[in-house]
Amino acid sequence: MYDVCCKFEPYVKATPLREMMQNVKYLISVFHAYGHDYPCQERYHPKFVDITNGAGYSDGEWVERTWSWLSKLVPMLKYTKPSTRKLFLARHISEWNKQRIADLRKY
Ligand SMILES: [Zn+2]
Repeated sequence: MYDVCCKFEPYVKATPLREMMQNVKYLISVFHAYGHDYPCQERYHPKFVDITNGAGYSDGEWVERTWSWLSKLVPMLKYTKPSTRKLFLARHISEWNKQRIADLRKY
C-alpha cells in the first residue's frame, strides 16, 4: 500500500523493476484513497481490489506509523555518519518488527 500507487505502478512498469514486481498488488491506503478520483479508487482502493490472498483488511497506514515511530530518531541521527545512521535505523526497524509480531499474539 502506498499513498500514490496510481503514479507508482506505471513508474515501476516502465523500469526493469517490472519483472521483479509482476506479482505485486498495488493498493492505496483507505485514508488516502478517497482523495483520488473514482477510476483510481476503483483500481486501487482495498475495498475494490481482491485482497483475499494474504493482505487482509488494513487501513494501510502502517508505513505512516513506522515513520512516526522512527521520527523520534531524527534529532539524534542528524549529525551521524551514514554508516552509523543505517545501522541504527536497521536495529530500530528490527525492534519495530519484533514489537508488531508480539502485538499479533494479542489478537
Ligand atoms: Zn490516483
